[in-house]
Amino acid sequence: MLYRELLLSNVFCSQCRGAVEIVEYSGAMVKGDLILKGKCGTCGRNVARLVEGS
Ligand SMILES: [Zn+2]
Repeated sequence: MLYRELLLSNVFCSQCRGAVEIVEYSGAMVKGDLILKGKCGTCGRNVARLVEGS
């Protein structure tokens, strides 16, 4: 659970040029991997993150 929270606060935003927190996200499973789509908590730009299934 802690690891999951770490992922959610470490999403790369191309506009902020760094790791940001993802907000208003939703997840989708694609071929065993979880893809999180949401918005940058800093600038509001759409961001996405792939969370690899193990
Ligand atoms: Zn941003």
